Amino acid sequence: MKVKTIIEPFRVKVVEPIRMTTREERAEILERAHHNLFLVKAEDVLIDLLTDSGTSAMSALQWGAMFHGDESYAGARSYYRFEKVVRELTGFEHIIPTHQGRAAERILFGVAAREGMVVPNNTHFDTTGANCEASGAKALDLPCAESADISSDFPFKGNMDLAALERVVAENGPQRIPMIMITVTNNSGGGQPASLENMRAVAKIAKAAKIPLYLDACRFAENAYLIKEKEPGQGDREVIDIAREMFSLADGCTMSAKKDALVNIGGFVATRDGELAQSMRNLLILTEGFTTYGGMAGRDLEAIATGLQEIVDEDYLRYRLASIRYVVDRLVALGIPVLQPAGGHAIYLDARGFLPHIPPRQFPGQALSTAIYLEGGIRSVEVGQVMFGSDKETLAPKDLVRMAMPRRVYTQSHMDYVLEIVEEVWRRREEVRGYEITYQAPMLRHFTARFKQLG
Ligand SMILES: *Cc1c(COP(=O)(O)O)cnc(C)c1O
Repeated sequence: MKVKTIIEPFRVKVVEPIRMTTREERAEILERAHHNLFLVKAEDVLIDLLTDSGTSAMSALQWGAMFHGDESYAGARSYYRFEKVVRELTGFEHIIPTHQGRAAERILFGVAAREGMVVPNNTHFDTTGANCEASGAKALDLPCAESADISSDFPFKGNMDLAALERVVAENGPQRIPMIMITVTNNSGGGQPASLENMRAVAKIAKAAKIPLYLDACRFAENAYLIKEKEPGQGDREVIDIAREMFSLADGCTMSAKKDALVNIGGFVATRDGELAQSMRNLLILTEGFTTYGGMAGRDLEAIATGLQEIVDEDYLRYRLASIRYVVDRLVALGIPVLQPAGGHAIYLDARGFLPHIPPRQFPGQALSTAIYLEGGIRSVEVGQVMFGSDKETLAPKDLVRMAMPRRVYTQSHMDYVLEIVEEVWRRREEVRGYEITYQAPMLRHFTARFKQLG
């Protein structure tokens, strides 16, 4: 018998209460936060789907490992355990700890990229693109054509556009391309996986042009599981084996351990290039910390090492991806516009389809995410015009609202609640109004922007 009920493959040992609020309270909270959900206090959120980053519930083993943290400044035992686990997983020689993913990016681009260069990626994550451009290089997104169609069920919308990559490589050459990146899964493009076939082809192009290939590996395990499920010929392989092949195609990676290492803080950059590693370590010492802790405590290194061993558990990955798919399938059945197919870590509502009466420059994604908060105290995040448009309001390709699932935190009944609230907003969608921006920062404006609701 094939069991249809999705169950969490863990039981709960410690609980944390969450707080109900009334609609009137939430309306006031939204006013005070200038209609920016980043500015709402977490206590005022019932179900927090702002991000899956750093929000994982750690296991008993991880908490136990933290007691073994060696807090020595240099050469801590915890560093060597962390290094061994990362090396066994990735095969990369040089493992440099950082306090989170963007620190890894800053150090990699700070050393390898500069003015006049371009860095192609399937889609740069927001901090990745910003760090790349802070070095002077141009961050170039080359997602596959299939990714533009929100409702097609093409299984690997995280693929890179190979023809476009070949063009960019031919035009710029290895002197102007310090690296090619692939983000797995493609967070900004909907948590969609890249196929092994596509990664192999990118690696071939990179190798022929003598350009290093780096993975933005934040969700490598979710990507590997989706390959196992969907890519012809991969169904019988173990996820760890697929993950190792993904890393074997690359010359290095950046990683936010706050995703698929199941911890609340941490990251690393890894590479096969000894010279590059030396330069990165020098910069690390300047801005993050000594080479064997890189801005983390010894206990954090232990938690990451254990988390990386746990994340490739196939019962866990099966449950996680089934739970996301459950929500997406129900939304599709209700006729609610949602990015398909279900990705690895989040549900992405299509705000332009959901709120066609709000033009993109009035921020339909922002309007939808605040409406969902007002209705049910659920916090999501806009991934669209606010995040990717600039003060010149060049049009972002899509307006999505991301509901990201913290790992091992919410249960299936929380998912049913989310569905109920989104359905209610859908029923009353014509009442939802657009916004204008009254304050914005010059970079990464979505974190601090203030909004005024239009009449
Ligand atoms: C989260 C994330 C990052 C940045 O990591 P932080 O730990 O938040 O600094 C980079 N790339 C992708 C794809 C991410 O999801």
